[in-house]
Amino acid sequence: MKIVADLHTHTVACGHGFSTVEENVQAAKRAGLLAVAITEHGPSIPGGPHHYLMGAMTQIPPRAEGLRILRGAELNIINTKGKLDLDLERMSLLDLVLAAIHPGTPYRGETSEEHTTALCSAMENPYLDILAHPDNPGYPLDYKKVVQKAVAEGVLLEVNNNSLNTGHPGRKNGRENCLEFLEIGKKEGLQIAVGSDAHISFSVGKMHKALLLLEEVNYPRELILNHSLEAIENFLEQKKKRIQNKLRNNFNLD
Ligand SMILES: [Zn+2]
Ligand SMILES: [Zn+2]
Repeated sequence: MKIVADLHTHTVACGHGFSTVEENVQAAKRAGLLAVAITEHGPSIPGGPHHYLMGAMTQIPPRAEGLRILRGAELNIINTKGKLDLDLERMSLLDLVLAAIHPGTPYRGETSEEHTTALCSAMENPYLDILAHPDNPGYPLDYKKVVQKAVAEGVLLEVNNNSLNTGHPGRKNGRENCLEFLEIGKKEGLQIAVGSDAHISFSVGKMHKALLLLEEVNYPRELILNHSLEAIENFLEQKKKRIQNKLRNNFNLD
């Protein structure tokens, strides 16, 4: 199986990254990818970008150097009601919206039940596409509830290559947790996305550990968003309907 796009990368604009958009795109090209997403952290991450940056993401061209570029964000879930740290208008300008709970942000949930509620509520947001690194052992989850909600809401779970790097601080058990939600996901028909979570261009496209894990569990190819560019473009087209449906159902911001 092949992964054709890295759907989770950061640049210097996120406050703790080291490369530029152009360097990430060049690195994706060298890695033989067809697409790359630039997914900057939301404003409430320590040292993070101002929300103006999220509005300015559209200045990044959707295509360059022969690659498809997705203008995205990795927003923060900032309370147990699943609130994300960006207004809906700016979210609507982005191609791809990831979200996660991160340390150092205003999020104050403590129990697995609270983290599960926070993620499940965040998934009701019309613009949310992918839950990033749901394996994070710092925020344990009821995976059955999270997976079922994700399938119902048309949201994907991410297999984050960074979580599988044994040297990553705070992501011990990343592998075990990924295995747990992937096993449930296979039964429930959960779509997943793969990302490197690169904070430097040298790591863009490095997703081999995630790929090995997916092969190990024999995860269905058609449920992996970035197995083909066509699948990604279809998803972007379909998400317009998902947004319309959720907005019609009066999604409540607070
Ligand atoms: Zn993250
Ligand atoms: Zn990230």
